[in-house]
Amino acid sequence: MSLPFLPFALPDVGEEEVDEVADTLRSGWLTTGPKVKRFEKAFGEFLGGGLECLAVNSATSGLHLALEALGIGSDHEVITSTLTFTASAEIARYLGADVRLVDIDPATLNLDIDQVRKKITKRTGAIIPVHYGGLACEMDDLLDLAQQNDIKVVEDAAHALPTTWRKCLVGTLDSDAAVFSFYANKSMTTGEGGMVVTRDPQVAQRIKVMRLHGIDVDAFDRFTSDKPSWYYEVVAPGFKYNMTDIAGAIGIQQLAKLPGFLERRRHLAARYMEGLRNLPLRLPADAPAGDTHAWHLFVVRLLDEAPTDRDQVIQHLSDCGIGTSVHYVPLHRQPYWRDSYELVPEMYPNADFAYQRMLTLPLYTRMTDQDQDRVINALHSVLG
Ligand SMILES: *Cc1c(COP(=O)(O)O)cnc(C)c1O
Repeated sequence: MSLPFLPFALPDVGEEEVDEVADTLRSGWLTTGPKVKRFEKAFGEFLGGGLECLAVNSATSGLHLALEALGIGSDHEVITSTLTFTASAEIARYLGADVRLVDIDPATLNLDIDQVRKKITKRTGAIIPVHYGGLACEMDDLLDLAQQNDIKVVEDAAHALPTTWRKCLVGTLDSDAAVFSFYANKSMTTGEGGMVVTRDPQVAQRIKVMRLHGIDVDAFDRFTSDKPSWYYEVVAPGFKYNMTDIAGAIGIQQLAKLPGFLERRRHLAARYMEGLRNLPLRLPADAPAGDTHAWHLFVVRLLDEAPTDRDQVIQHLSDCGIGTSVHYVPLHRQPYWRDSYELVPEMYPNADFAYQRMLTLPLYTRMTDQDQDRVINALHSVLG
């Protein structure tokens, strides 16, 4: 009898989410309303308070809104890692800004700060660090560099819930904004969704207006104004990026489970570290002592002494009914980015080297230890 297929990621949604969504559906209020408000409040409390949390329909929307609110436009260049999902970069193009991709630090797979430094010009408007896989970037050096050059920092925190840098949660650091994703395979989900977090009330206000058609609901006081309740003012050509209460309902229950999700992810990551340590694999870097790795992704790289190549390992695992992925085909190899900016792999030696040897192993909360043993055993049989 063959074993069931083991996917590389699966959402973990239970009866609590079903009940919360049913409550929303029965309430008659489906779009942005009380559930989104509760979710934003709970998210801010999870991060420790004192922050503005703005729910949106995806992290991509959130990144777009954050850059827009910070004034990024066609005069600017935006720097991000080549080893990321295209969303981290495309949002700069939405605003007419140019993208400058940088190579990674092979130790962490995060963007290399020295490479960022070399790409800074008078036009650099923002840096978008990506906390790859759930491991924080070197934020002290990055924030110093940005501050010295008067550059905004928007963290792509899609993998970083919860991640800490020097014991502070990503979302509470001194960047201009951090943006989380609740896409189906992220550490918590709302189906589709995202959250922008910022300390800057003006940035928050602009995002509030722009996420819903440029309508300024706070432009006048609805309660003391003599304007009728149907009245509103459009102050900019905004976007349709608001989160629905259906998604917000899922988010409320997922957030409550997040600490338990992290425990399970940590347990599985530790078991992989132990079970794979004698194989010709480079295992992922853990967070520094005292810090939290979100373990969104568990990415291994084949060492030169491995008896086979990455594609054959993926094929073998697939033959064993095990799903894997590759994060990511680096942007410098993607036709749009490659052709627009005349990029060649030699410009990104570290990311390119890693890309050719990397694969992402299954890691999700509903995976049992026995499921994981199948992955470990299959890797031993192809690499041992
Ligand atoms: C998932 C992801 C995004 C986009 O998130 P959405 O919520 O799907 O828009 C952006 N950046 C990175 C690194 C991601 O992994």
